[in-house]
Amino acid sequence: MSLSKAEQRQIENEMIFRRINEKVGSELDALDEMHREDGNEHLVRDEDFLLRFKCECSDENCDVRIPLRLSEYIKNHVDRDTFIVITDHQVDQIEKIMKQENGYIVVRKNNSTPEPNDTLKITSIDNS
Ligand SMILES: [Zn+2]
Repeated sequence: MSLSKAEQRQIENEMIFRRINEKVGSELDALDEMHREDGNEHLVRDEDFLLRFKCECSDENCDVRIPLRLSEYIKNHVDRDTFIVITDHQVDQIEKIMKQENGYIVVRKNNSTPEPNDTLKITSIDNS
């Protein structure tokens, strides 16, 4: 099965949104690191810190935020073919629902598509 141009575009949008979310995650990691260096341990986020992640649906104009703990976000993104979208923002033609959570769903692409440009990974702090 091959993808139409429109479908390809939708998938790329989702990847771009996910990348924005991952960037937020890695910048927060850097911020935590700064707090540690400054001796302000109390400012370091814990795992339950609630973030407002961008909906990773294929609509480029979607501006919905999903309140989600960073730990949940990471857990649901172990697989690079999955995306987190708000309920009802999934597109049946390009993805299927893997998991229905409270307020959001995890979808998986029917086709895997190479990610546009470079890949940002969620970085964990390396104190060595
Ligand atoms: Zn959306």
